[in-house]
Amino acid sequence: MKTVHDTFGAASCRADGLCALRPAMPQGFMDAESLMRVAEVVRKYDLPGVRATGAQRLEIHGIPPELVDTVTQAVGSLDGKCPFMMTLCLGKGQCSRGLQDTRSMAAALENMLEAMTDISVRPKFGVSGCPRGCGQSWVRDIGLIGDAKGWTLLFGGAAGRKARPGEIIAKHLCDGDVLKYVKRTLDFFAGNAKKGERAAGFAERIGMEAVRQAAQNPEPE
Ligand code: SF4
Repeated sequence: MKTVHDTFGAASCRADGLCALRPAMPQGFMDAESLMRVAEVVRKYDLPGVRATGAQRLEIHGIPPELVDTVTQAVGSLDGKCPFMMTLCLGKGQCSRGLQDTRSMAAALENMLEAMTDISVRPKFGVSGCPRGCGQSWVRDIGLIGDAKGWTLLFGGAAGRKARPGEIIAKHLCDGDVLKYVKRTLDFFAGNAKKGERAAGFAERIGMEAVRQAAQNPEPE
C-alpha cells in the first residue's frame, strides 16, 4: 500500500486507485464538531462516505489521488498524527463490567509514546477494562487487561494470517508501573527487532523470558 504522507494514519492509496484518509481519533473518539467537519468534506468533494476501520477509526473513503492534498487540507487539524494504533474498550465508568479506566490509560500511553521520539517500532496496542478483553488485547503487539487488582501486561499477540495470543509479562500492575513496563518492553523490542519485525515474531525468535526480564528490570542508573 502506497502511503501518500509520512504519518501513520494519513492518506493511503487502495487497489482500486482511490485513496483514503484517516482523521485523528484519540482513544477511538470523535466529537460532534469534528464529525461535522468530516461530513462537510465528504459532501463538498462528493466522496462516497466513511468506513470504520479495525483500529476504531473513521476513514474518509474513495478520494481520487488528485484530491488527496485538497481533502487533507480541508480536514485540517483532524489530519493528526496517530503513530500508534490503539484499540480500547469502554472500560470502567462506561461499561458496567469495567474494572479499570481504559481511556485514561490509553491517553497516558499516547503521551508517553509521543515523547519516545527515537523509537523505531510501531506497535499496536489493545486496552481492555476487564478480562473479557473487548479491546482486542490478546491479539495486539502490546495488550493490557484490567482486573480488580490492576493491569495484566501482554506482549506478542497478533491477529490475521498467523494469529497468536499475547503472553503475560506481568500482572497486577498499577497505572504508573504499566508505563514503566511498557517503556522498557518497547526499548528492548526496538533495540533488538529486525526491520519490520512484529512483536509476535520477535517473541518467538528471542523468547518471552528475555522480554519479561527486560520489562521487569530497570537499567542500572
Ligand atoms: S473488556 Fe470488559 S470493560 Fe471492556 S467493554 Fe468488554 S466487558 Fe466492558
